[in-house]
Amino acid sequence: MTQKVPFFRPSLGEKEIAAVVKSLRSGWLTTGPQTSAFEAEFRALMGDTVHAIAVNSATAALHLGLEALGVGPGDEVIVPTMTFTATAEVIRYLGAMPVFVDMDPATICVEVEAVAAAITSRTKVIMPVHFAGRACNMTGLRALADDHGLRILDDAAHALPTRHAGALIGAAVNGADVTAFSFYANKTMTTGEGGMLVTGCDEIADRVRKMRLHGIDRDVFDRFTNLRASWAYDVVEAGYKYNMTDLAAAMGRVQLNQIDDFQATRAAIAARYDAAFADLPLTLPPHAAIGDEHSWHLYIVQLTDDALLTRDVFITRLQEAGVATSVHYRPLHQMTYWKPMAGGRTFPAADAYFARCVSLPMFMAMTETEQARVIKVVREALEGEAK
Ligand SMILES: *Cc1c(COP(=O)(O)O)cnc(C)c1O
Repeated sequence: MTQKVPFFRPSLGEKEIAAVVKSLRSGWLTTGPQTSAFEAEFRALMGDTVHAIAVNSATAALHLGLEALGVGPGDEVIVPTMTFTATAEVIRYLGAMPVFVDMDPATICVEVEAVAAAITSRTKVIMPVHFAGRACNMTGLRALADDHGLRILDDAAHALPTRHAGALIGAAVNGADVTAFSFYANKTMTTGEGGMLVTGCDEIADRVRKMRLHGIDRDVFDRFTNLRASWAYDVVEAGYKYNMTDLAAAMGRVQLNQIDDFQATRAAIAARYDAAFADLPLTLPPHAAIGDEHSWHLYIVQLTDDALLTRDVFITRLQEAGVATSVHYRPLHQMTYWKPMAGGRTFPAADAYFARCVSLPMFMAMTETEQARVIKVVREALEGEAK
């Protein structure tokens, strides 16, 4: 019986388990001391000049971020077609319209010229996605946004820790107005479900803190009454229920401590894949630009014209040999809901990439035996068929 290799397996150790159990025993389950400590530690990681606000998903962070940036009906938000639907769906939550932009084949991210071409008088926000964990050109995008009076909310669900021009994505110098991180089960660190919104702007942080929990404003009430009792609050908006639990935060604190080790492990896995596949009919994933650092959340290969089998057959061969894979992503403009909103525009780079892309197993807990098995199975699938 051949050994099966999963697409992903989480890396939760006894420390995470102990932290969650301790949090359970403390009697405080929802947002509390663990969440405050997690936010403080995340903020310190980002360089202390930002606010870090914990929420129950990256989708929540994206939604709260766009809401705080004032996006509403009649506005346009620029978003890659090559992303997960969460990036774009939050635009629709607020009644605004996504304007999809094609990817650059060299980076699988949106490039500055393509974003510039999509700007109209209605554009309010640009939402870059650091695809697979490779940083977008934030320097160029910030300059473009400043030229046009636009805001930037970057979807950093793949990008912890990713560095651009020497600083972490999310740090103030990288120029986003808001950054959203994901701690979903298969992301680079996890809280089961969870997310973090980071912003350097005090007004955005105030708004997000209120909207994260029912639009409750304790400060407004305090100002008038000086009451500190838990019943003493005012409601200033119809807010949301997006707060993080202390159980999740307890897990997150232990994971956050290890992100550089996790990244080093994934980078080593990526380097072994690169070396093993160099002679195969595959386009290997783009590396970080000079001065940047890749989080290696995903390792995605593309079959070249020299591969005589299709992407779908390749996936089936791997599956038959016990190697699980995934596809990131079918571009949004091909999806039933989004198609009518693509405005008849075409996205040839994303279409070509989607027809050829396969995400291989990439996770911290992958053993050398498991990776050797993936490499063997990939080689056999392609060598049997190559010209
Ligand atoms: C995972 C993911 C999200 C959503 O993250 P959640 O924490 O599950 O809400 C958003 N954007 C991208 C690109 C993602 O991969």
